Amino acid sequence: MSAEFVITPPHRATLPVVGTTAQFPVRRAYCIGRNYAAHAREMGGDPTREPPFFFQKSADCLQPIPHDGVTDHPYPTLTSNYHHEIEMVVALKSGGVDIPVEKALDHVFGYAVGLDMTRRDLQDEAKQLRRPWDAGKSSDFSGPCGPLYPVTQVGHLSKGFIRVSVDGVVKQSGDLADMIWSVAEQISILSKAYRLEAGDVIFSGTPDGVGPVTRGQTMLAEVEHLGAITLKVV
Ligand code: MN
Repeated sequence: MSAEFVITPPHRATLPVVGTTAQFPVRRAYCIGRNYAAHAREMGGDPTREPPFFFQKSADCLQPIPHDGVTDHPYPTLTSNYHHEIEMVVALKSGGVDIPVEKALDHVFGYAVGLDMTRRDLQDEAKQLRRPWDAGKSSDFSGPCGPLYPVTQVGHLSKGFIRVSVDGVVKQSGDLADMIWSVAEQISILSKAYRLEAGDVIFSGTPDGVGPVTRGQTMLAEVEHLGAITLKVV
């Protein structure tokens, strides 16, 4: 017996798996805040003493971006300070609660290059007024993401360049090795707060150099071993 719905079931975000026609269905999108020391400092934090914190971006904000060509990325409403945050995205094939650090990477399906695009003016206002971050972090299309690279193909990534350029000028350039909390630690800590499930993705933080883009500009986002994606802000 097939289920009866009163409306057409909403579209579920999926990410392509590199080199295949297969898709990875996304359940939730978690993001860690201030996970590279220099970025924590530029946002006014102290990287040496702060435990990690996480927020969620609506999964339907993920925008799958192919490696080939230039993909249009719509500039969102309500902002005049829309920032790029280059991040490595971690996709889970299984989950659980209270996952020990040493078992955490067993749950990873693969990795992709992504951007945690942020309406910084709305995020700053939310911080000031002690309101939630959703308006800053969960605008439509705010999670552009490249094809997923399975662990079976690239292994686990703990070092390698992560960078984004805007109109050919490098704006953020870091190394995965500079994460304050490793991917395994992020999974373990998150699993104490939420039951993680297959289909969850984690944006693992951004290095320093975040900054605005405007319509007409082109972003080239790259993580070593995960290829590059090119987006034109429209
Ligand atoms: Mn971020």
